[in-house]
Amino acid sequence: MPATEVATPHTCPDCAAVLDVDERFPAWCPACEWNLSTEAAPVAQRKRGEKRRQRREAARKRAVRARVEKVYESLVSDAPRRSDGAWLAAVAIAGLIHLVTLCVLAGSVALLSTGTWPLRVIGLLGLAVAFMLRPRFGRLRHDETSLRRSDAPALYGLADRVAAAVGTRPVDMIRVTDDFNAGFGRFGLRRRSVLRLGLPLWVPLTPQQRVALLGHEFGHDVNGDHRSRLWLRTALDALIEWYHLTTPDRSDAWSGGGFIGGVASLVTAPLLWVVNRLVLGVLLLLDRLTTRSGQGAEYRADGLAAEVGSTAAAKGLLEMLLLKQSAETVMMRFRTLPRTRRGPVPTDRRPAVDLWTELTEQLASLPPLERERRLRLSALDLGAVDSTHPPTHLRISMVDRLPAREPTVTVTAGESAAIEAELAAARERVVRGLLAI
Ligand SMILES: [Zn+2]
Ligand SMILES: [Zn+2]
Repeated sequence: MPATEVATPHTCPDCAAVLDVDERFPAWCPACEWNLSTEAAPVAQRKRGEKRRQRREAARKRAVRARVEKVYESLVSDAPRRSDGAWLAAVAIAGLIHLVTLCVLAGSVALLSTGTWPLRVIGLLGLAVAFMLRPRFGRLRHDETSLRRSDAPALYGLADRVAAAVGTRPVDMIRVTDDFNAGFGRFGLRRRSVLRLGLPLWVPLTPQQRVALLGHEFGHDVNGDHRSRLWLRTALDALIEWYHLTTPDRSDAWSGGGFIGGVASLVTAPLLWVVNRLVLGVLLLLDRLTTRSGQGAEYRADGLAAEVGSTAAAKGLLEMLLLKQSAETVMMRFRTLPRTRRGPVPTDRRPAVDLWTELTEQLASLPPLERERRLRLSALDLGAVDSTHPPTHLRISMVDRLPAREPTVTVTAGESAAIEAELAAARERVVRGLLAI
């Protein structure tokens, strides 16, 4: 039923239950889930093609949902396994991809050294392709988002304690970003570690939830997170490069334009199309084969988050992740608030409110019914989740299944205050970025 047909503002039009309506949020019914999703309902006048597209999309979401729930069930019922058949198949396919890259390289070198001129041209092209397919390890660079150990001893100190508690090495670099997110990765040939902390997520968390967040991220370094493993990652990068190289608009770059280029692309286009579809198929296959290990890694990282930060903190963190949209709304609104002039520089105009206080208060003030709506939406919108990240409601249930934990790492008030002071410059940078001043 469309959202507009509310019988009275406070009764559910479907089941007549009394609704607890907060003007700030969409009205919905927790009893029958009326208006749970505020997405536009399919309208009869829509074109037939559009309807078919929607049906296909709904079927795809259902399939992803079934797959993700199956992974959850099997992880719940099975003894934890470090590897599985699907993962081994993915490793083997990755090996084949690396072999193709090697063959392109070796073949190009052979053509360049022994072939005739036309073949040498092909050899040169091959070398260019091999260069694009080369494994990339990324680089660790200091920039405005990176914090040095000497600049943030308290934050690094806490991170080191959490890293030790989950059983990994101290992090090499912490970056502070403006996302409602966090992440962990390794870069360069020396595989140096980088922890990314998004301030809009970090600030509204309680100190103990921050410990849980650090535990989750470091957990990825110890729990066999296959997706980040170099072998598969570099193979996926090569595949994605193949995909871009063979996508029609990009493949024009092969010919370099002009008449000869046009004729050449006419000949190569069907061949590239075939390769393009094949690459896409392998990408989808790899995604399927690594779903279990990828999602298993997330659940295990949540388990480690609960181990260091406590079960309550890990759940609080996961519930915070459901509020991403609200956080983004607060930040968008902050940009459009009336500005006051502060300081001698005329361009330094900012709203009178403090973004971080506003963000923390707004997220804390969300009524339980709205939190429940977000949680149920996470269950409903399962198909929209990419397969690396299990939907939040399943992650919360998984944490609930584990034995309740008390924190093994705690933060003192003094430590919290010191960390807050160390992040002051980063907070200011994010605000300036948001206001474009
Ligand atoms: Zn109802
Ligand atoms: Zn994670």
